Amino acid sequence: MSSPVVISRRGADRVRAGHPWVYRSDIVRAEAEPGDLVRVEEERRRALGWALWSSESQIAIRMIATQSAGARQANVEERALFETRLRAAMDYRASLAIDGTACRLVHGEADRLPALVVDRYGDGRDDYLVIQTLCQGMDRRIGLIVELLGTIVRPRGILARNDPKVRRLEGLDERVEVLAGEVPDTVEVREGDVTYRADLRHGQKTGLFLDQRENHLAAARYARGRALDGFTYHGGFALHLARHAASVLALDSSGAAVAATRANAARNGLTTLEAREANVFDELRELETSGERFDTIVLDPPAFAKNRAAVERAAAGYKEINLRALRLLSPGGHLITCSCSYNVNEALFQAIVEDAAIDAHATVALVEKRMQARDHPVLLGVPETHYLKCLILRRVA
Ligand code: SAH
Repeated sequence: MSSPVVISRRGADRVRAGHPWVYRSDIVRAEAEPGDLVRVEEERRRALGWALWSSESQIAIRMIATQSAGARQANVEERALFETRLRAAMDYRASLAIDGTACRLVHGEADRLPALVVDRYGDGRDDYLVIQTLCQGMDRRIGLIVELLGTIVRPRGILARNDPKVRRLEGLDERVEVLAGEVPDTVEVREGDVTYRADLRHGQKTGLFLDQRENHLAAARYARGRALDGFTYHGGFALHLARHAASVLALDSSGAAVAATRANAARNGLTTLEAREANVFDELRELETSGERFDTIVLDPPAFAKNRAAVERAAAGYKEINLRALRLLSPGGHLITCSCSYNVNEALFQAIVEDAAIDAHATVALVEKRMQARDHPVLLGVPETHYLKCLILRRVA
């Protein structure tokens, strides 16, 4: 066990306020190896808990145990700690009565397993797990995690989707590999009364946008008439809309995504869903020019603001698509609009949409404020865990 990492008063205050990250600038003294589980102390030796040490990232430590009596012990039983955390995360998901066969079992910091993602594809019997270890400490313990998941979940296979670029910040390479059992190329996933094919090795994230599951189901409740789904990916919203609306036009700039949406529409017997390869910015303008109107519109773009510096440009992008969508929306119709940029918070996103409504000369009511699905928990005091915003609006006039 390495000697404790000592952090500044500022870092300690942050930890006491419930934030798991301590930046390198708040490290006073550290003699640790990459990925070590380290004891964390404030100057003058007050114990704060246990954390994973990174030798590379600006996030030098990620707390994994704080406050409890155990966290102040001179030693921690690593295996028991991970098992307790994993079981707690799974018990929480089991309590959610999720209407679907894929869910996030572990959502990193929000489950007090920093930088670890575990998604389950399956209904609790023939399951496949996809995992991501996004910091040195988790990556070093991937063997332990796979072993514990094997015992707790008993999956048919475990795939590591360790290709996100954030791993570079930790000095980790990008790799996709089967770590246990067998993992098929695609699996069928049910979500409400819709089914998708998910490509676990090549799909975005771990195959699907599981964080939108509850918003897909919510959007279906407002769907009617002629519907439009910009940024459809594999038809996440469009398939649900198509079960209630008269017709759906789904747009995506990726040809592969459009092909997947068509295949998913056929799989669900949805003949009124048209998927078109197009840039949403251009297509919204053209639809407006040709005088088209829609009763239900969904906008779920990729994160426009990947960092703080990009917020201004991102805001302009969000405003443009929301303005054009509101112009296309018939009075009485609904706009379901999302942002997954952590750097554009809910207040800012709402302000951008308000601006768009003014410019569109539309009277708009806010019907629902939503966020990521409940299996992607948001921790109070850790704003980074709240990244997905979803506003449901009704055009009054
Ligand atoms: N709504 C989907 C997830 C969307 S992910 C769901 O719920 O499952 C964002 C998608 O936007 C990606 O498929 C990407 O190919 C597409 N995209 C990115 N920029 C685009 C643009 N300018 N026009 C159209 N599609 C775009």
